[in-house]
Amino acid sequence: MSAYNALCSSTSSIDLNNLSPIQVFIRIKPNNSNDQYEIIPFKYSSNTAILTLPNSPPLSFDNVFPPQSTQYDIFESIIPLLHLPLYGYNSTIFAYGQTNSGKTYTMLGPDGKLSLAADLMGIIPRTSRYLFAAIHKLTSSSPSIQYQVRVSYLEVYNGRVYDLLRKNDNKSNNRLHSLSIRGDNQGNINVTDAVEIPVHNSLELENILMQGNQRRATAFTYMNSSSSRSHALLIIWIERRERSISSLSREYTSYLGRLNLIDLAGSEDTSRSKAEGDRFREAININTELFQLRRVLDALSASSSYIPYRDSTLTRLLQSSLSTTQSITILISHISSLNIDLSETLSTLKYSQIAKCVQRTSIPAQKLCKNIDTSDVMFGDYNDPVQCFYRRTVYIHTPSYGKIFARLAGHRYDEQQKCILLIHGSGPINSSMYWNDLVRRLLLTTSSSSSLSPYYFVAIDCPGYGRSDGDKQTIRSYPGAFIQEIIDCISPTTHKVYCLIGSSQGAAAVFNALVEKPAISSFLAVQDPVSHDPQRFVCIKQPALLMYDTDDDGHPVSVGRLVRKYIPNNHYYEFASSKQPKWLEHNAHLKLLQLFDEYDANNNITNASSLQLTASSKISVPSVPACVSVAGGIISYLSSYNREPLYKNSKEELESILSAYENQSVQNDDLFVEKIEPERIEDDESKAQRLATELAQTQCDLCNQHISSSDMSKSLRLPDCRHLLCYSCCCKTIKLNSYECPVVSCATKLNVSSSQLSLYSLPFSSDNEKHIIIQFGNSCKLTSSSSQRYEYTAYVKCKMKNVIDSVSFDINPKYPKSAIRVSEAPYELVRIMNSEFTCDFIIQWDKALNWPKLRITYYVQSKQDSFTRNLLVRVPYQGNTMAKSHKTREEVVYNWTDRDRTKPNINYVVLSYDYSSPSN
Ligand code: ADP
Ligand code: MG
Repeated sequence: MSAYNALCSSTSSIDLNNLSPIQVFIRIKPNNSNDQYEIIPFKYSSNTAILTLPNSPPLSFDNVFPPQSTQYDIFESIIPLLHLPLYGYNSTIFAYGQTNSGKTYTMLGPDGKLSLAADLMGIIPRTSRYLFAAIHKLTSSSPSIQYQVRVSYLEVYNGRVYDLLRKNDNKSNNRLHSLSIRGDNQGNINVTDAVEIPVHNSLELENILMQGNQRRATAFTYMNSSSSRSHALLIIWIERRERSISSLSREYTSYLGRLNLIDLAGSEDTSRSKAEGDRFREAININTELFQLRRVLDALSASSSYIPYRDSTLTRLLQSSLSTTQSITILISHISSLNIDLSETLSTLKYSQIAKCVQRTSIPAQKLCKNIDTSDVMFGDYNDPVQCFYRRTVYIHTPSYGKIFARLAGHRYDEQQKCILLIHGSGPINSSMYWNDLVRRLLLTTSSSSSLSPYYFVAIDCPGYGRSDGDKQTIRSYPGAFIQEIIDCISPTTHKVYCLIGSSQGAAAVFNALVEKPAISSFLAVQDPVSHDPQRFVCIKQPALLMYDTDDDGHPVSVGRLVRKYIPNNHYYEFASSKQPKWLEHNAHLKLLQLFDEYDANNNITNASSLQLTASSKISVPSVPACVSVAGGIISYLSSYNREPLYKNSKEELESILSAYENQSVQNDDLFVEKIEPERIEDDESKAQRLATELAQTQCDLCNQHISSSDMSKSLRLPDCRHLLCYSCCCKTIKLNSYECPVVSCATKLNVSSSQLSLYSLPFSSDNEKHIIIQFGNSCKLTSSSSQRYEYTAYVKCKMKNVIDSVSFDINPKYPKSAIRVSEAPYELVRIMNSEFTCDFIIQWDKALNWPKLRITYYVQSKQDSFTRNLLVRVPYQGNTMAKSHKTREEVVYNWTDRDRTKPNINYVVLSYDYSSPSN
């Protein structure tokens, strides 16, 4: 056992050298006090693992469990094997022995049921809990590791393989629908088409098992009324993904481990069990298969060159579990101590001895491969909440410093635009993310609904930080050379930027870079700066914004006062974060714009609008410079919005860049398409500024025509996207009933006052209704390149909190129970299917609302990436009195089954009450 103990404690590498390929445990079934039968006087010792029958030589095993052993004793002894699949190895535990000897009791629990009672629980439910606890422990202590678990559950019955997880595989009237077994060229045996269900916790796994167990063929036999007449194989696939923490690259190493938990049907003496008809045929089949299993064990223990795996379904299926080169196995042999069972007991012990003699020919290997993760393009962007402002992430390919990760924001038109480069020297995962708030404020203050911001932002992760290549010392030792290279890449014609902004080490880098290379920037700004030898800064002639926190000892204000003395053109601010914790947040962007205004004669509104950066004008996007490749942001943006409004004209161009970079589809569940309530954090000041610009606007955002003052009151300002539509032509053409803004095709709600209602031929008014947007759809991915099966994830999302109580997914409306009822987000159903299918999402609203259920009948799409519909749910806004005084209708149905992808992405349904029913 010492090798096992070592295994238990090991976490990263596992030494399999000292393990014999098949460990054999004996479990002796306790006698029932009612048993009339004579008892064999066994001698056994659990310490020495020796079992002695009367008048026989002692037999030695790896473990002997006496009748009084508990379920936990058995489980404890198999724990080491559970660690192997967590590291990419295969391990197998199987229960062997005559019928009624306690195999199912050991694997599942008493009476063939999956027992969840703490002391009676068998190996399988305990394993389920243990595995997920182990996974939790491993992943929480190291964030670069992820696990994915899938399960298959098969049974072998009368020589055929059936899938216990397959819903429509009803054996009693469809006996022929069995699965076939195939070997691949690497010697792996696979059951074609076996369902593999992804599971995320032990509860899910247990639910799946219970469903599978209900289907397991059990039949009455004379021996034992609940004895299983089939062999059951639970296969748990465990994929371990390891990423390197340092580079945060999207490449990961994947190890695929497999744990087989097998409950064999027992052999039986047909003359004793009085089996007849079907029962007799079952018994013969079981005996034949077990006979073949023994032949395989014989051949393995004799190290024979030919192992007759192929001679029965069972041994073919167990090939990888029995093969000494592929798996480590524990065989738990079950025996009875009743004299009447003696011949079966002897036979079981004989084959257990044979199994124990099996020698290893070579050490099983970890199954590993290198992969590129395409499912999570924003890997590492854990805390990044900002999804607007045309932000995307790229790699800047520098000649000397490798790939530098950068976050871009704003709309790049050409080099006339004012490029602001932001540098935070050191930092945790994404120092470039540090600037999100400042960039957002600058964009909000400088763009309006009619013109885009004249600024364009590039925030980088310095070499060696975040996802950038290179050495962490670069930014300290060669700030000038490094920053110059970045600027050469992003401004290849002018070789300069409008402003350099730095914080902390990045601020020191910015100062030093400007001392070395004065021409690279027109302005400079620092917050929380550090610097040394500020006397050198006399040569920095750029206008500078200096902001110091007097409470921050790490970035001392005493140095700041010196810097102020030496840099000639500066705007200098001191604040105390203890008293004004939000000073930077509220002021940095304004102070910066003030600085620009003061020193840049060209920096005024007319100049910005002279660029004609209006949202609706046709902007041609310059091709992305050769030095830039997409790091992910834009991919997720495109795939989840399925369009990029301002890049409308050159979407193809962008897509070709993307596909050159990577041609796999991408899903990012975190991005929510609904734009009804954009997270626009606006303080009073910027709101006032925005309203002022909006009031001054006299041009329609759709047709660009001037709106006369007499028509202004009738024109329509859309509330979310803030686009202005003229009354003379555009209000009429907009797709009001589809709730889409015609300028950028985003979902928008209507906010038309009742006095304006008569102006537009609106199909309904929003004043008397509550509106909720529901998003539904599915994603779809091929389960493996060889099979034609897809994993569909159908989902319902709602951004508004506390309106949905639960969602039931029903894929077979004739069946009284729904497939699954989910009572908290994410509301989704995962199914592995051969083809598209219809699914009903039944939304049960929060009880207090008393709204009728909404049934969405949806045709799940097999488009390779995700497919999304938006549904506007209109609830007549009568308050709760109306809801209470009228009986709620059973359900309201919305159909989306015609697979017409050209239909508008957003549609509506009215949740109405049944007014005819009497109240009470
Ligand atoms: P098998 O699967 O080998 O045919 P079962 O697991 O169905 O046998 O066990 C037969 C009966 O014996 C069941 O009623 C089971 O609850 C009982 N049994 C088996 N092993 C034990 C044990 N260790 N302690 C108590 N009851 C047991
Ligand atoms: Mg059984």
